[in-house]
Amino acid sequence: MTPPRWQDVARATGLMGDDGVPRATVFAEMSALAARTGAVNLGQGFPDVDGPASVAQAAADAIAAGANQYPPGPGILALREAVAEHQWSRYGLTWDPDREVLVTAGATEALAATVLALAGPGDEVLTLEPFYDSYAAVVALAGATHTTAPLVATTPLVATAHGFRLDLHALSAAFTPRTRLVLVNTPHNPTGTVLTRDELAAIARLAVEHDALVVTDEVYEHLVLDGSGARSSVHVPIATLPGMAERTLTISSAGKTFSFTGWKIGWVTGPEPLVSAVRTVKQFLTYVNGAPFQPAVAFALRDPDVAAWVVELAHSLSRRRDLLCAGLEDAGFTVVRPQGTYFVLADAAPLGYTDGVALCRDLPGLAGVVGVPVTAFTHAGSDVDRALRSWVRFTFVKRDEVLTQAVAGLHRLHRG
Ligand SMILES: *Cc1c(COP(=O)(O)O)cnc(C)c1O
Repeated sequence: MTPPRWQDVARATGLMGDDGVPRATVFAEMSALAARTGAVNLGQGFPDVDGPASVAQAAADAIAAGANQYPPGPGILALREAVAEHQWSRYGLTWDPDREVLVTAGATEALAATVLALAGPGDEVLTLEPFYDSYAAVVALAGATHTTAPLVATTPLVATAHGFRLDLHALSAAFTPRTRLVLVNTPHNPTGTVLTRDELAAIARLAVEHDALVVTDEVYEHLVLDGSGARSSVHVPIATLPGMAERTLTISSAGKTFSFTGWKIGWVTGPEPLVSAVRTVKQFLTYVNGAPFQPAVAFALRDPDVAAWVVELAHSLSRRRDLLCAGLEDAGFTVVRPQGTYFVLADAAPLGYTDGVALCRDLPGLAGVVGVPVTAFTHAGSDVDRALRSWVRFTFVKRDEVLTQAVAGLHRLHRG
């Protein structure tokens, strides 16, 4: 008898061991540890300062004005138009707001509905590894097989595109005749990598060659951080590469861009037949969500003052990244400076830890800080899992005083 699908999901996400025994996820364990010890929680990536007051006011106004019943299934027209305008003005992508834009309950639902709509038993869904934790869950939910292509740590001096880079040989080897979807994520959580045009072109070429569809998670599209000179990164949507718009579904959301992660307003854009397939599934997952938040996000996407606020957020995150990276280096970690997102990966091997889980359990006592082992984002036993065993993810989307406290705690690790 085939086991119920929830068990596949539980196994794929570490909620259940191979022995069938339920476990807490390492995310839950580390958050509980932070709460118990009073350590600074740099494990969970949500901002401790809300987004623009004007956007919050727009949601409050929408409630007062009566936007409190089911919105239209595909999302309100104003938001679909604002998303279409955004894709056009930022990237030159043209989508019809009526047929090629779908509003979802965050990027999470967009990802789930997309994978459920387009992949099933016998299909492979190829992602980068490490990967955002919901990817393994939705691939398991769809009954498909999760394959991966590794991001590999390179030293900062190797190239202009430093940090964790896509292993192009391994990428090519990961494609098979069963590869149905390639699920890309740039800027990438957890590594902070912003994929280069060349890396994206390699993915695009292989997707075309194998007739696979591309799904791209771009929730950090506006959180590309400052670099220096030739090292500054730009976000390139893979849908803008030649021949890719017709085989790509692009996913983004308001949560990370506007610092309202609790609002859960996301969207999918792409060619009509693909968006319509996703809509068919989405209709029976949540049907609709966030009636008063939809007009507020439409306002946020169009308002020039909010756009300026987002640019300033990226600058401020760059400064906060530098603050935390310096603290981690001072403590003895090897740090790969992220090019985007809320996160930095640090290797605890120089501190004498071969296991990031063990370090994370000790870190509240040693330094009053909580992180998440990178193995929470890998397949148990994979090459990447082995290579990143001693690595830990920390978030820097916290107020300066919180980061300063974390850095002071980390200084206690400093040997010398
Ligand atoms: C936060 C995050 C999401 C989820 O976005 P929501 O809009 O909150 O559902 C999806 N993908 C990545 C990579 C994320 O970091």
